[in-house]
Amino acid sequence: MKDRFSTDEYIEVIGAKENNLKNISIKIPRNKMVVITGLSGSGKSSLAFDTIYAEGQRRYMETFSAYARQFLGTMDRPDVEKIDGLSPVISIEQKTTAWNPRSTVGTTTEIYDFLRLLFARIGDAYSYETGEKMVKFTEEQILDFISENYKGKKISILAPIVRGRKGHYRELFEQTRKRGFTKVRVDGSILDIEANMQVDRFKTHDIEVVVDRLRADDDKLQRITASLTTAFKMGNELIFILEDDSGEVKTFSKRLVDPVSGISYEEPSPNSFSFNSPYGTCPSCKGLGEVFQVSYDKVVPDDSKSINDEGIRPFGAVRDNTTFDQLRDIAKKFKFTFATPVSDIPEKALNLILYGVNPPAKNHISTSSMILSMISVPRVCSTC
Ligand SMILES: [Zn+2]
Repeated sequence: MKDRFSTDEYIEVIGAKENNLKNISIKIPRNKMVVITGLSGSGKSSLAFDTIYAEGQRRYMETFSAYARQFLGTMDRPDVEKIDGLSPVISIEQKTTAWNPRSTVGTTTEIYDFLRLLFARIGDAYSYETGEKMVKFTEEQILDFISENYKGKKISILAPIVRGRKGHYRELFEQTRKRGFTKVRVDGSILDIEANMQVDRFKTHDIEVVVDRLRADDDKLQRITASLTTAFKMGNELIFILEDDSGEVKTFSKRLVDPVSGISYEEPSPNSFSFNSPYGTCPSCKGLGEVFQVSYDKVVPDDSKSINDEGIRPFGAVRDNTTFDQLRDIAKKFKFTFATPVSDIPEKALNLILYGVNPPAKNHISTSSMILSMISVPRVCSTC
C-alpha cells in the first residue's frame, strides 16, 4: 500500500551524532519492515529511539500551540544534521511478559481507539444484504419528501407493530382499537379493526397500524407532522408510507435502514469496530482471527491401530463406561471388534463413531474443550 502521507521513498538521516553515533548518514526504505541489528553498544537504540523517534516526537510536539506546549515541556533536538521523509512515529516496547492474542500494535499504542472513533464518526453504513447505502431520515426530511412526491395524492401513514412473526394478535388488535385507531394493514391488506379480531396464529404476519390516511396537500402538513410523530413512536423509529393508488410502499426510519430490504442497523459506534467488544467482534472467531477446527489426522493419527491400541485418540484406553458400551454395540452391529485396525472399521460405523447419529456438520465433533484442543488445529477465520 502506498503511504498517502508521504511522497518520499526513504527516511533519510544525515549526520547523526547522538550518544556514541559517529556522524552516521543512512537511508531507510519506507513501507518496509526494517530491522536494525548490531553488537551491544553499537548504537542501535541511539539511532532508532534517540534520533529517529525523538525527532518525530519533537516535530509532533511542535504542532501544539505555545500555550499547550508549556504544559508538555520542551524536547531537545537530537544531535543530527537533518532527517527527511519522517512520518508520525510510535515506539513500542518489547515485552516478553504475558502474550495475549487480543493485543496488537494498534491496541498497544492506542491508535486503534482513535481509528475506531474515526470510523464511527465519518463512516457510511452499507447493507450486508443488498450492498445499498443505508439511509436515515429526520421528520423534516420525510415531510419534505411527502410534499414533493405525494402532493395531491392519497397516502396512508403506517406504523409497523408486527414484523414476520407468528401469533393470533387478538390483544394487540384490541389495544390498538382502544387507542382510537380504526384500521390496520395485515399482510398487505387494509382492514377495519373489529371486535374480537384475530389472525391465523400458526402463520407469520406483518401488521401495521394505519395511523393516518389523507390526501397530502400543503394545508395538511401540520396534521401529517403530528401523525409522523405518533407513527414513529408506535413503529419504534420505523414507518411506512403507502401511496393508495399505486400501492407503492416506502420505508422511512430514524435509524439506519437499507432502503431496499428494510433491514436496519444501529448507529456505528466505536464499539462496532472493536474486535474485542461483543458489538464488533466477528461471530465465528470471536475476534481472534483464527478458529480451531477438529482435524481427522489428530483424532486418528495412525489408522493401523485398533481401538484397543487407542487408535481413536480421544477415547483413550478401553475401560468400563457408557462410551465404550456404545462402541461395543456399534462394533457388534457392524461386525468388527476392538482389535480391528481403525482402517478396517466399516466406513458407516466409523462415521457413526466420529460424527454421531445426526451429523450436525462435517468436521464438527462434540466433545469437551480440553479434548478439543488436543485434536484440533487453528485455521485462519474465513468470515472476517
Ligand atoms: Zn473471524
